[in-house]
Amino acid sequence: MVDFHNVSMSYSKKSPLALRNVSFHVNSGEFVFVIGTSGSGKSTVVKLLSCEEQANSGEIVVGGTSLTRIKQRAIPYVRRNIGMVFQDFRLIETKNVFENVAFAMEIVGASKRQINRQVPIVLSTVGLRQKAAMRPSELSGGEQQRVAIARAIVNNPKLLLADEPTGNLDPDTSEQIMAVLKEINREGTTVMICTHDHDLVDRMKQRVIEVRNGVVIRDEERAGYAYCEINPEGMLQT
Ligand code: ADP
Ligand code: MG
Repeated sequence: MVDFHNVSMSYSKKSPLALRNVSFHVNSGEFVFVIGTSGSGKSTVVKLLSCEEQANSGEIVVGGTSLTRIKQRAIPYVRRNIGMVFQDFRLIETKNVFENVAFAMEIVGASKRQINRQVPIVLSTVGLRQKAAMRPSELSGGEQQRVAIARAIVNNPKLLLADEPTGNLDPDTSEQIMAVLKEINREGTTVMICTHDHDLVDRMKQRVIEVRNGVVIRDEERAGYAYCEINPEGMLQT
C-alpha cells in the first residue's frame, strides 16, 4: 500500500533534511502509528504521501503508483485513494454536517443519488447520523473530528492518513476517535496515524514507526510509545 525507499527530503536548499534515508513498507489493511516529538518529520511523511511536497531522493510508492516524477495532472488520482484527517478538523463552517461530508463527493462528481445514499452510511459509521443537520460550531471537538473522518472515508479511500487527529481532544474523546479509526481499519482501510500521544499509542498496541530528527529509529509491531535501549555503558534506558 505504502512504500518509502531511502527517502530524503528538505524543504529548501538551505534547510537541513526533514527526512533522511527513510524506508518502511505498509501493507494493505495495516494500522500504523508514526510517532516522534514535534519537528521529527511526521507531517512531512503525510505531505509526501499526499503529494503536497516532493522527495529530493529515494522512491515513494502509494497504491502501486510511484510518486517520483509524478505529473501534476496525475496527482488528483493519487489523492482520490487517500483520505486525510488533521488536528484542526478543517470543516466548512457555513455547511452542516451532511453538507460537509457530501462536499467531498461532489468534488469527485458523484450524483445526488449516490450522495444521499452514501453520506448517511458514513455518518452512521462515525456515530453522527442524528447530527446531520447541525453546523460544526454546534458540535464538540470530538464530534467535529468524527465529521472530518466521515468526510475522509466517504469516497472509500484505500488509505486513511491522520496527522495528530487527537491533538486538540481530551483523553476520553481521543480514545473514542481511535476506536472509530480502528473500526474503519477493521473494514479494510489501511490507516496511518501521526501522533505524539503516548497514552494512546501505549493503549492501542499497534505497529509503531518512530521518527527522530528525520530518521526512522524504530519500527516495531504491537509496540508502546516508549522503548528500551542499551546505551554504550551497558545501562538499560527507557
Ligand atoms: P512533525 O510533524 O513531526 O512535528 P514536520 O514533518 O512538520 O515534523 O517537520 C520536520 C522538519 O521539517 C522540522 O525541522 C520542521 O521545522 C521542518 N519543516 C516543516 N515544514 C517546513 C516548511 N514548510 N518549511 C521549512 N521547514 C519545514
Ligand atoms: Mg506534525
